[in-house]
Amino acid sequence: MMNKRKSDDPRKYREYIKQETHWVWGKRYQFSVVEQKGSPVVDLQTKKLILRIGADTDIATRSHFLKQWYRNQLRAAAYELVGKWETRLQVKAASVFVRAMDDVWGSCNPQKRTIRLNAALVHKSPDCLEYIIVHELAHLIEQGNDHSLTAVLHNALPNWEAVRDHLNQSTLTY
Ligand SMILES: [Zn+2]
Repeated sequence: MMNKRKSDDPRKYREYIKQETHWVWGKRYQFSVVEQKGSPVVDLQTKKLILRIGADTDIATRSHFLKQWYRNQLRAAAYELVGKWETRLQVKAASVFVRAMDDVWGSCNPQKRTIRLNAALVHKSPDCLEYIIVHELAHLIEQGNDHSLTAVLHNALPNWEAVRDHLNQSTLTY
């Protein structure tokens, strides 16, 4: 389990889409909505994140579509990294889920061999996602958060403590 500090200011559904700044993989983007016909798309440019969506859609629909896009980004990156680290650590997870979670960045159920990843990891730099994946996969080898686990982490990701500290200081919510 990798704990995450709770935010003092949980963002509400409606506020989420109105924010001008969005973070994607640790980089800052200016967010805007462009109303246009056709299927909605999310257009990620160098400095801009643009949701192109029909003028007749309400804010809940827009927010839902954007969140779905974020989750798809996270899933695609996570599945690739899980595959890479399953091979290196010689473990296998039965399933990997992406969930909005208030309290943890990731968790592992060693009995069911399932891993849950916080959907908000898509906002953090990719090394954060990688660290959480390695941490949770390592729980399939070592269940406690003690020195046997840290030995696995040291061996796998020599800079893991810096990444963990960065995540612990973060109050970002999804
Ligand atoms: Zn843990």
